[in-house]
Amino acid sequence: MIDEIIKKEECCGCDACYNICPTDCILMKNDQEGFWYPSVNNVECIECNACVEVCPALKKASIETALDIPEIVAAYSTNEKNRVESTSGGMFIEVATSIINEGGVVFGARYNEQHLVEHYYASTLEGLEALKQSKYLQSKIGESFREVKKYLLEGKKVLFAGTPCHIAGLKNYLNKDYKNLYLIDFLCRGVISPKAYEQFLKSMENKYNSKIKRVWFKNKTYGWHRFSTKIIFENGKEYIEDRYTDVYMRGYLEGPLFLRPSCHECKYKTLPRYSDVSLGDFWGIEKIKKHLDQDKGTSIFMVNSEKGRELLEKISKNLIYEKTSVKDIYLGNSALTISAPLTEKRGEFFKRYLEEDFSDLVTELLKPSLSKRIKKTLRKFRILRFIKKLLKMVYHFLVH
Ligand SMILES: Cc1cc2nc3c(=O)[nH]c(=O)nc-3n(C[C@H](O)[C@H](O)[C@H](O)COP(=O)(O)OP(=O)(O)OC[C@H]3O[C@@H](n4cnc5c(N)ncnc54)[C@H](O)[C@@H]3O)c2cc1C
Repeated sequence: MIDEIIKKEECCGCDACYNICPTDCILMKNDQEGFWYPSVNNVECIECNACVEVCPALKKASIETALDIPEIVAAYSTNEKNRVESTSGGMFIEVATSIINEGGVVFGARYNEQHLVEHYYASTLEGLEALKQSKYLQSKIGESFREVKKYLLEGKKVLFAGTPCHIAGLKNYLNKDYKNLYLIDFLCRGVISPKAYEQFLKSMENKYNSKIKRVWFKNKTYGWHRFSTKIIFENGKEYIEDRYTDVYMRGYLEGPLFLRPSCHECKYKTLPRYSDVSLGDFWGIEKIKKHLDQDKGTSIFMVNSEKGRELLEKISKNLIYEKTSVKDIYLGNSALTISAPLTEKRGEFFKRYLEEDFSDLVTELLKPSLSKRIKKTLRKFRILRFIKKLLKMVYHFLVH
């Protein structure tokens, strides 16, 4: 049974086991950190082993359709609204729109009424709006894999967008290639604990003395490069801080303090990829193709299969894009294949996060050591460089 076999730190919470179970005897239960894991009801279990067979941590998903070398383009949508409202260059919404226009359905992540994130499908252009944008916490798959299969068997085109581990879980669940299925993943640093995110919202609600109306990550008000967290409160107030000052993004990027354990040794950040297309932010684009960076978002569009080529072809008339290479991605984005490090501070965070104010705790944990602070100040005033120059001059004087 899956809950006895899978190592906790390897379970990515993709819900594949939950979806495959013929007797519905698997529940996904939250642990103290707020991440869900399978729990099997032994009385109802018929020991068919389907849950073990489908687990992407225990059985590698197929990469048969992958191109030997992925093709990379740097791109953005010519539809200004789509570009600015999306997280990167608006690639997802362009592909999703083309699938809907062909009568298909699109699965992706949306916020629910509690501001938590869950997978859901849209079959209309209006429905797609909720799927736009990156939501920086783990999305609950729920019964989405079953729904994907239902639509595939009806002959509809299905686009499924999710994390690399969602894609691996779905592929194992389906266990065969469907001509009408298109898979998009993204370069993924890792997913955040929904409970940690709730603690963040609670801290903000206390500070602003109001309930939250809307949350927006990687908002472009101050530009794409400084991606900001924006929150609108019911009392009309607004919070907006960029990646250097927002505690949530700092905890995610500088810590990392609250990632799912499996994200620290992700098995799905592989090349070749399991998906047809991998999307990402083209950080570093200003160094290689400055004309493609207007600080409004430029995407990595990585074509991993023939179907990926087909998707790029479908939307190419709506894009500005140029070919580039995998090497260029690493200029600013190690998340393609490298997992975020596991830090001691993560353990400290989860020990205290339910008892203390989120913002205070993160600020305390990320406070640099005294030596780091001195170095930073010296660097700031360019004193270090000056001292080095002076020492060199003295050395030169003494030697010659
Ligand atoms: C948790 C997370 C970590 C990421 N880490 C990186 C990174 O390290 N480097 C990088 O270059 N890019 C990263 N991205 C991807 C990046 O932010 C953009 O989503 C991507 O470039 C696509 O942008 P877009 O403008 O085409 O579309 P967008 O409109 O941003 O589309 C986002 C798509 O992702 C799906 N999605 C959103 N949130 C989630 C979620 N929590 N779980 C599953 N699916 C979701 C949506 O349904 C939609 O399909 C990450 C995204 C997420 C959600």
